Amino acid sequence: MEIKVLKDILSANDQMAERNRAALDSKRVTAFNIMSSPGSGKTSLILETIRALRKQIRIGVIEGDIASSIDARTVGKEKVPVVQINTGGECHLEAGQVGRALESLPLDKLDLVMIENVGNLVCPGEFKLGEHKKVIILSVPEGDDKVHKYPLLFAMADAVVISKIDLLPYARFDVPAFLKALKGMNRKARVFQVSCTTHQGIEQWAKWVRSNTSR
Ligand code: MG
Ligand code: ZN
Repeated sequence: MEIKVLKDILSANDQMAERNRAALDSKRVTAFNIMSSPGSGKTSLILETIRALRKQIRIGVIEGDIASSIDARTVGKEKVPVVQINTGGECHLEAGQVGRALESLPLDKLDLVMIENVGNLVCPGEFKLGEHKKVIILSVPEGDDKVHKYPLLFAMADAVVISKIDLLPYARFDVPAFLKALKGMNRKARVFQVSCTTHQGIEQWAKWVRSNTSR
């Protein structure tokens, strides 16, 4: 019974996601769904991406949070269009919420929408939003074993960003072991090692973003 209810919710979500995708495609806008645990650096990576690419592509942002609009205000300081979604307790974004957010973004004037999902490595992977690419961020302090604990999310990633790479000397994060485990579940994901503090790896990441934005 419960399984059937969940299936119905997911298929309704998939239909909304397809509608979002069609709306984005009709305006030739690319969308990324950015997922990670709380505090892994989603907002920081979005800020760095805007700064690196603002002369090349036009970026809009959807900020998903359980509550507050702190991140939306931070991103808004970069003078890009931002829409905040507060899920009111839900631990993931759903396609319907993103559809409404897309309606309040000036899609005619954008090339890329970066969707910051709610900080959570579990259920955001189950809800398609209509995105073209899924990006998973894992920060060095979280440990390389997370790839084994959240296989669903890592298996579906188009890009995996290891963030806070400048903290490597102080943390237990075995990069070769992580890369090997990731390869075992996902052969296509591009991997980036970045620091938003030292800017290591940001250029390579920005290049990937640019080349995956249809413009
Ligand atoms: Mg954030
Ligand atoms: Zn959830």
